[in-house]
Amino acid sequence: MNRAKSEQQTSRRSSLWAVEILFLLGTLLSAQSVEVVGPEGAALLPLETRAIGGVTYCSATALRALLDGQRTPFRAQYRYTAPTGSVSLRVLGPQTEATLRMRIGSRSAELLGGGTVELAAPPLVREGEVWFPIQLLSELLPQLMGFSATYEVANDRLLLDWTQAVPPLVQLPEEAEPLPIPPRLELPFRSIPPAPARWVNLRPVLDPGHGGGDPGVQGNGLIEKELTLALARQIASIGTAMGVRCVLTRNGDQERTLQERLEAIERSNGTVLLSLHFNRSPSPSESGYRVVVPTLPPRGGRQIVPPAGIEATGGRDPFLESQRLAELIAQSLSEAGFVGKVLRLPVALLHRSPVPAVHVELGYLSNAQEAQYWSDSRTVQRAAEALWAALARYLPSGEGR
Ligand SMILES: [Zn+2]
Repeated sequence: MNRAKSEQQTSRRSSLWAVEILFLLGTLLSAQSVEVVGPEGAALLPLETRAIGGVTYCSATALRALLDGQRTPFRAQYRYTAPTGSVSLRVLGPQTEATLRMRIGSRSAELLGGGTVELAAPPLVREGEVWFPIQLLSELLPQLMGFSATYEVANDRLLLDWTQAVPPLVQLPEEAEPLPIPPRLELPFRSIPPAPARWVNLRPVLDPGHGGGDPGVQGNGLIEKELTLALARQIASIGTAMGVRCVLTRNGDQERTLQERLEAIERSNGTVLLSLHFNRSPSPSESGYRVVVPTLPPRGGRQIVPPAGIEATGGRDPFLESQRLAELIAQSLSEAGFVGKVLRLPVALLHRSPVPAVHVELGYLSNAQEAQYWSDSRTVQRAAEALWAALARYLPSGEGR
């Protein structure tokens, strides 16, 4: 390194220092705090603010602490990735939630789920802290989340009120649901009653969805036709151990038409049908089981005659029995740690089934977390046990003895 260059660098360094010192002085002079008041005059955490370039900024840390405070109904998550300058702010409120993806130095903020919103001024970094224009809290979040805010500049006071809910701009999609809790595989699960004697009249027909040239849905390395067959075989092997014979509409990788599946049910003299499926969604977060019961029978009624083996259900209406079984399956799956719900859909096999029938979508293969736990054979085992627990509850006690 030669002397001239070294001097040049020294002088550049000292001028940088000068700028830094001036900035520090400037920020110290402009350091302020805005009083924040909630509904009915409740004092909330004050917001540390600074005037930068004529714009009032608040610190990201103070904003998050304020929203996350116990006196507000909001929760806030905030992340700043220094190398890329990306800032993400997620706010959950009583009506909705909003996630803004911002960039240091840029006024446009991407709203997760669609849309771009304009900030009054770009987010900045000062002394390692991220600063947002106060307009984010005084205008933007209230509009997105549906609450009111009044910024009294002269009084350095911000009034927030979430008790008079305003329609939020961010509308959550109807299907949006929290991720399921993965099954608690490590816990023992003993719901199968030790008295299979009363199940003598029970003959479950297991219908593993898809097969052959019809793989069903695929995702995260899993194929529906393989998983439904693995589950049906697991249910059947538990049945065998208890002395209950299950009938499978396919026991290999064969394609079955609706008619062939119906014929298998009729030939087998089955008493109850479980059609096994897995789901897929364009939304990767969609998750959980869906137990499907048929929609109400069309006018004029379904062509259902209670089959010979219907003693197991006491000869009751197969349509109502399907619904009862679906609710018991949902209950048992939930107890086994799965999360989901009961749906009513016009599924052809259910409408035409001669016996009480339930279609179960065990989970979403498009959801990476769910696919991961379904690739574990213990999950298949646990689901099979939960379905047996449901069948046990489905049979009125003492019947079939
Ligand atoms: Zn399917």
